[in-house]
Amino acid sequence: MAVRGLGVRLGGVPVVRGVDLDVSDGEWVTIIGPNGAGKSTVLRAVGGLVAYTGNVELDGVDVAALSRRDRARTVATVMQQPVVPPGMRVIDYVLLGRTPYIPPLGRESASDLSVVDEVLAALDLESFAGRRLDTLSGGERQRVFLARALAQGGRILLLDEPTSALDIGHQQEVLDLIDRLRGERGLTVLSTMHDLSIAGEYADRMVLLDDGIVVAAGAPREVLTEELLAKHYRVRVKVIAGEHGPLVVPVRERHTG
Ligand code: ADP
Ligand code: MG
Repeated sequence: MAVRGLGVRLGGVPVVRGVDLDVSDGEWVTIIGPNGAGKSTVLRAVGGLVAYTGNVELDGVDVAALSRRDRARTVATVMQQPVVPPGMRVIDYVLLGRTPYIPPLGRESASDLSVVDEVLAALDLESFAGRRLDTLSGGERQRVFLARALAQGGRILLLDEPTSALDIGHQQEVLDLIDRLRGERGLTVLSTMHDLSIAGEYADRMVLLDDGIVVAAGAPREVLTEELLAKHYRVRVKVIAGEHGPLVVPVRERHTG
């Protein structure tokens, strides 16, 4: 995926400006940046959910030239707090992922249903199929959101803070799951993430966004530096070398006297 000169205006204000972004096949790239930097807006633009200027290319083809259906068959987006119709069952929600394959006014086919079964099995959700989404825990619900995106059958997964509602154990579980699926299904992942240490452990590369602009990009150890984080998050941190990437530890101000 190649993004060139991406710009988005919301309410007349430019919130994303001149963003260039490359994600190779099978790569996991994570966008970080302070609140309001434009992370979600970049994902929404790449996913075709908001109007933008500039280009988003997949395998050299401008996605603007694809039909909505073809785009949805290629790129699946999981937004931060997806709206769930009240009372909806897990299996029906995951089946929504097959919408780009179901003809207008048509019904789902046997192959749509078998894709849904396969995805529910892969995410260990079979026993939840008949449960209402509003009865699930945060971690279970996040797995269902992923299931819907996988049922869509695209090669590219856009994930907006996929673990923000989860405790540390479920964060790890969901991110390990995404990483495993990426390997098994050859998926390409573009995500945003809040927790910097966790983001750095899973991402191949990171992009630091501030005020709608890319201010740093590269391997986690190139982006997660004390200098860059101090400058763009206005925070005092210590960065420690970890086994799978830099670990970012906030440091409180020292009182003197
Ligand atoms: P992030 O995900 O990095 O926290 P967002 O992409 O959600 O940031 O938002 C980027 C900026 O766009 C923020 O300053 C936000 O206030 C602004 N914004 C979001 N939606 C609108 C809107 N509908 N109208 C005007 N500004 C908006
Ligand atoms: Mg956001």
